[in-house]
Amino acid sequence: MSRGRPAILFDRDGTLAHEVGYVNHVSRFALYPYAAEAVRAANRAGFLAAVVTNQAGVARGYFPESLVQEVHARMRGAIEEAGARVDAIYYCPHHPATGAPPYRQDCDCRKPRPGMARRAEAELGADLSCSWVVGDRFSDLELAWAVGARGALVKTGYGLGELTYGSASWRRQPDLVAAHALEAVQEIVARIGREPA
Ligand SMILES: [Mg+2]
Ligand SMILES: [Zn+2]
Repeated sequence: MSRGRPAILFDRDGTLAHEVGYVNHVSRFALYPYAAEAVRAANRAGFLAAVVTNQAGVARGYFPESLVQEVHARMRGAIEEAGARVDAIYYCPHHPATGAPPYRQDCDCRKPRPGMARRAEAELGADLSCSWVVGDRFSDLELAWAVGARGALVKTGYGLGELTYGSASWRRQPDLVAAHALEAVQEIVARIGREPA
């Protein structure tokens, strides 16, 4: 079996877009100013670029799944308008204990479970062993480690607080800590050149 391509799996809220709590209307969604540049940097370095986001507000009944799709169409449009390419956007609308079926389910895709990364592997041909998850929560790092990828924690969104008050109890520390998603991608790309083949 041939090796796939490395991927960077970006968390959405707090990583590419402002963390505002539930994005329960498209008017609450705003990308960080560097978001498209972060994706473009991944594109240029030969990484697949995908978004992996938990959207349990669907299961909780706060907003319909169609809103998630509307937000993602807007996100994709803004990123592409800036000359970058998102290879896939994956979201988990589920919650294990809240709401009604089919959204109330103990799914395999709610981070830190591996489902969305596995989809990137199956559908995009990502080689997870040389891939990264970039996110602002420890659960993003756990997703990375669950599939043999590496995890970068950004200090935007919940990141600085998680790092300051949570990291002492983490079983493993982030493979990279960056000020924001663009810096994370730049550092990931820089490390490629420093690693043995
Ligand atoms: Mg986040
Ligand atoms: Zn799910």
